Amino acid sequence: MQLLLRANGQQVAIDMDRAGNQVLMVGEHRYQPARMARKVRRLTAQMWGAAMPPEILNERLTFEALEGGKPSGPWADSGSFSPRSGSFVSLGRWDEDGSIGIALHELAHEMHLRAGGYDESDGVVREAVSLLAEREAGLIRTFEREPYYTASNLVAQLCALPAFTHQPFEKRWHEMMQITNDVGLVDLVNYYLDKSERLGLARWLKRAMDNLDLRDALLNKLAVTSLRYSLELRRQLISNLVRCDPQTPPDQVAYVLDAIVTLDRRYPGDDLSQIIDFCFAPYLRQRRRIFALG
Ligand SMILES: [Zn+2]
Repeated sequence: MQLLLRANGQQVAIDMDRAGNQVLMVGEHRYQPARMARKVRRLTAQMWGAAMPPEILNERLTFEALEGGKPSGPWADSGSFSPRSGSFVSLGRWDEDGSIGIALHELAHEMHLRAGGYDESDGVVREAVSLLAEREAGLIRTFEREPYYTASNLVAQLCALPAFTHQPFEKRWHEMMQITNDVGLVDLVNYYLDKSERLGLARWLKRAMDNLDLRDALLNKLAVTSLRYSLELRRQLISNLVRCDPQTPPDQVAYVLDAIVTLDRRYPGDDLSQIIDFCFAPYLRQRRRIFALG
């Protein structure tokens, strides 16, 4: 793990593990490189154990401090990863612990690459994997815009679901490693929402369809429909679905989901939650009346 100090066109490299109690100020933040190295080693050991080869931390993680503390580059980003040169973290933007979170973010890209999923994954999954890791390290960031918005939104939803978060990191990480696109990630959110809140989706699917391919196709369609939904809208969508008669033909269910997407596109100003209720209304089983009123 090395720290590059850059000033006046000069560059000095420091071995962070051997920096003793040296302290470095960058911008408004104060960093102790040896302590940072220890924290990064502790966190990576907790998260990936022996799966992380020592050369990654020794040779492919670099912290940088620029004169004046201003990270350069088009996004003024605090970290970057490239399969060729590994992980870089710029100091100055985040405090010591925040910068360690950024380091874990970049290292997660490296671990994703080594697990073989990085190249096949879309940008949403790549960032979601890393955002999960930085949260595990204690850094919680939210983004208003792409390229990080969808990933941060879905990871935040996933991390709000007890059935997901109560599992050890190894299990959560392994599940993320199975996913390669945004729809797969949404499907995972839907799965854990159903599991956490017992919405009855899994049970309803079993009753509605014997055919596993049909079930997968419907789950996929549900994920595509709810790609940008909040947890509330997602809950509402699933709750409506499981109130449909399980005898409803699958193409009718697909038709309802298509209708929601179409109406939402055509009337972007309308309340999506009303659109969902409206489209499902003709298919819902009436709740049994216990008392006749009137
Ligand atoms: Zn990233």
